[in-house]
Amino acid sequence: MTQTDPQDIPFPTSPVMPETFDGGKKIQFQCRKGIACWNVCCSNIDISLTPYDILRLKQRLDMSSTEFLQKYTAPYEMEMDGIAGVKLRPVQGGSACQFMREEGCSVYEDRPTACRYYPVALLSMRRQDENVDRDSYALVKEAHCLGHQEPRSLTVDEYRSEQGLGEYDELARGWRQLILKKKSSGPTIGKPSKRSLQLFFMSCYDVDQFRTFVASKGFGEVYDIPDEEKLKILSDDPSLMLFGFRFLRQVLFGEMSIAMREESVEARRSRLLEKQRRLEKEAAERKARDEFEMYGDQE
Ligand code: SF4
Ligand code: SF4
Repeated sequence: MTQTDPQDIPFPTSPVMPETFDGGKKIQFQCRKGIACWNVCCSNIDISLTPYDILRLKQRLDMSSTEFLQKYTAPYEMEMDGIAGVKLRPVQGGSACQFMREEGCSVYEDRPTACRYYPVALLSMRRQDENVDRDSYALVKEAHCLGHQEPRSLTVDEYRSEQGLGEYDELARGWRQLILKKKSSGPTIGKPSKRSLQLFFMSCYDVDQFRTFVASKGFGEVYDIPDEEKLKILSDDPSLMLFGFRFLRQVLFGEMSIAMREESVEARRSRLLEKQRRLEKEAAERKARDEFEMYGDQE
């Protein structure tokens, strides 16, 4: 099963059909038990996970997100010097999914978004001059998948609803928007600092670690969240995840939606001012040293 990214489209070897379409498009497809290619797609995986996929799977497996990430996933870089994504890690020494069983997917009710979409590819795009994201779809036709020969046709919208994708897409929207915003902002935002990359990873993928962070004294000293709201955020995984996307919009793009305590804003301002002064002083010292060496050489 191949994860599809919009950037795959022009690749000549990509199994994604070049035509893109909207949800009204009819496709011919059915995957059913007993089909000759049963489990072939799950035997060779390349599946990126959304934050909501991780949340569902860690709940199903009754483990923390930190344990789930360690046991079942591998991080990867979505773009050069950029933000991280998370992929399902196949079985040790092989390419099959760790959840594949002879009878099918052992986490079927909580299977990831990419598994639900297959063989449809979701293409979320944002043009540099636009502020809205556009969704379109494409069909992935891989030779091993015999589902395309089954006598059933339905629209992409019907297929998405059959696969329970409404909820999955809704809860991953904030995450997709962050990625598209980062990609479309390009050099204007620049290379994110190590600290912001770590924050992105924790807030998006390690919801239990993020919970500890939000509950910490340090967080409370900076962000001013009413007690009732904080309690709701901390006691409900999806709310915490959505809060994480909001938090990242504020930290990465300066879109202020979480109130900050005046004293912490002031302290931050002084720290920045101090840092700026230090950098200016270091630059002046460097310049003086360079000039001295230059004139020293001439003498
Ligand atoms: S999670 Fe389930 S459907 Fe997805 S690749 Fe693994 S076994 Fe297949
Ligand atoms: S029909 Fe396609 S999706 Fe279904 S088991 Fe076969 S290869 Fe996998």
